[in-house]
Amino acid sequence: MRDETLCLHSGYTPKNGEPCVFPIVQSTTYKFDSTSQMGNAFDMPVVQIYSRFTNPTNEAVERKIADLESGVAAMLTTSGQAATLLSIMNLCNAGDHIICVAGVYGGTVNLFKTTLPRYGIDCTFVEADADEETLRKIFLPNKTKAFFGETIANPSLTVLDIEKFSRIAHELGVPLIIDNTFATPILCKPFLFGADIVIHSTSKYMDGHALQVGGVIVDSGRFDWANGNFPSFTKPDESYHGMVYVRDFGKAAYIAKARAQLMRDLGVYPSAHSAFLLNIGLETLALRMERYCYNALAAAEFFSSSDKVVSVNYPMLPGSKYYETALKYVPKGAGGVVSVSLQTREKAAAFLDALKLARLEVHVADIRTCVLHPATSTHRQLSDDGLKAAGVHPGLVRFSVGLEHIDDIIADAEQALNAI
Ligand code: PLP
Repeated sequence: MRDETLCLHSGYTPKNGEPCVFPIVQSTTYKFDSTSQMGNAFDMPVVQIYSRFTNPTNEAVERKIADLESGVAAMLTTSGQAATLLSIMNLCNAGDHIICVAGVYGGTVNLFKTTLPRYGIDCTFVEADADEETLRKIFLPNKTKAFFGETIANPSLTVLDIEKFSRIAHELGVPLIIDNTFATPILCKPFLFGADIVIHSTSKYMDGHALQVGGVIVDSGRFDWANGNFPSFTKPDESYHGMVYVRDFGKAAYIAKARAQLMRDLGVYPSAHSAFLLNIGLETLALRMERYCYNALAAAEFFSSSDKVVSVNYPMLPGSKYYETALKYVPKGAGGVVSVSLQTREKAAAFLDALKLARLEVHVADIRTCVLHPATSTHRQLSDDGLKAAGVHPGLVRFSVGLEHIDDIIADAEQALNAI
């Protein structure tokens, strides 16, 4: 089925007399008829034993997201941040190393640069346009366990050459993990370009209505975990009565291991209510992404035509450095986020203060247009020089276009630019 249909129907097909909308199964636990049935359930962490491992409502949403990404299995998490963390912890032990593309989400940079090294997992950051030889050089044999990047990076809006990164990762025997939050599977399916694992902050476009914070990890089912670099997939897991993930779960080994080991120990599984809300967002995802892309391109063209604006970054503008890459990886559009730079941090702040329709929020990818000024919020500790060193213009505004009529969005932006 096509995406529009999967968004509505995947994950749940009601039988005669059953509710048309999948219900919220608000239950911590499940009843067994016998000790042997309960014992069998413990051999399969994919069946319902306790709602820290799985839950019928969550499972329906996991199936839908796995189908949209063309993957074999998915696991919801309580945030995008938790999805990123677990995607790495499922592969790395203390002493291991990952390679991450620079310019990705700031929370990911903090996690990889500051927190994971405290637990013995190091990260090397590399530019998205690094050549293949550079990628091979920074790879540490027996230590590097994964490459990580974003399809469309937040906030740099770099569009990743996924095929280049997956080719090198596979040559070196490790998987490529892609954060597909900004593109969503509607605009790009990273598995079709060779990525092995996809993660999302579902708090963004997938939900779209700013109703829940959540994340998801999806497995393509294509990586060979038995290639010798990942013994924890092929040796018995003594903490889970000797389960051997590749032997027992085949292509779904990655998610089975993440659920059995990490969800069990870290407990970052969302409530059925959150999954239910997420599903409402997913039902209209395909339709909404079309409109975000349309509105964002029109807004980017408007900002480009204003003499009050220093520069505009939107991958689908023909002048963009990433235009050709965007045509290949996100041909239907580059999502709803546009970066607009005004001359100074004061002018950017004055512009945001004058907006009447667009809301000032710590959020992106909502149905309502929302804006943020990194220099006075997420990056407020940095001076103008520090900001420039971090690749953030002091006058940069992150303009996340919503689903209001484009004429109203532009009229609001125009009156705010005039008010500076
Ligand atoms: N990945 C990207 C691209 C994001 O933009 C964000 C949050 O903004 C995250 C991950 C983290 O997600 P969450 O806020 O759901 O923890």
